[in-house]
Amino acid sequence: MNLHNYFTDFLSLIYPNLCLGCDDPLPKGSKYICPKCHYNLPKTNTYKLQDHIFKDKFDGVVPIAHVLVYTYFIKNGIMQHVLHDLKYNDNREIGVMMGRWFGHDLLLGGYSDSFDMIIPVPLHTERLKKRGYNQAAAFGSGLSEVLKVEQREDLLIRNKYIESQTRKSKVRRIQNVEGIFQVERGKDLSDKSVLLVDDVLTTGSTLIACAEPLLRAGIKNLSIAVMAGVK
Ligand SMILES: [Zn+2]
Repeated sequence: MNLHNYFTDFLSLIYPNLCLGCDDPLPKGSKYICPKCHYNLPKTNTYKLQDHIFKDKFDGVVPIAHVLVYTYFIKNGIMQHVLHDLKYNDNREIGVMMGRWFGHDLLLGGYSDSFDMIIPVPLHTERLKKRGYNQAAAFGSGLSEVLKVEQREDLLIRNKYIESQTRKSKVRRIQNVEGIFQVERGKDLSDKSVLLVDDVLTTGSTLIACAEPLLRAGIKNLSIAVMAGVK
């Protein structure tokens, strides 16, 4: 444990943990988010609809059965704090928690039997080493737990060669998201209903780049679930 950890542990004795949404001290039994902010999460509830703004991002590009977006990403809003904590404050657990919460909504929404497996968007190897976990897989494991669907992190991989090529220039990196992911050789995905998960949906380009190799591998259908979506 380094000095910084000692210091933050010491502080938490004096100051209780604060809610990521409202900064108020968390009541006993609450973790990261207070009951009021949990209740007021900016949920999209679009999982109840077949067509919606997030589905539009994929229409005409790749066939996606369901685009399931838990919350709206609003600048300086609670989800920005949650995602920041998940990615930069070593808080894997909040991703799992969000996955569980969304999983319960999806069960109530009739998705109890819709998927054969969950596949998280793979993280850059370097970033995985640095962070120690894949934030998309954290969310996926919460969903997996509640939906009782296995999460597989070994099926979809990043193409390391293209990854190192694209690091050379920013422009090329954007153009080259396509082809960066592939299905691990020798893995049979045929006839599976796959739920691809990520933390945020913005333009959809990363998810589309993941969808293409999965669909080529002969899966039955592909759906997407994300913690937060940018309108
Ligand atoms: Zn709060």
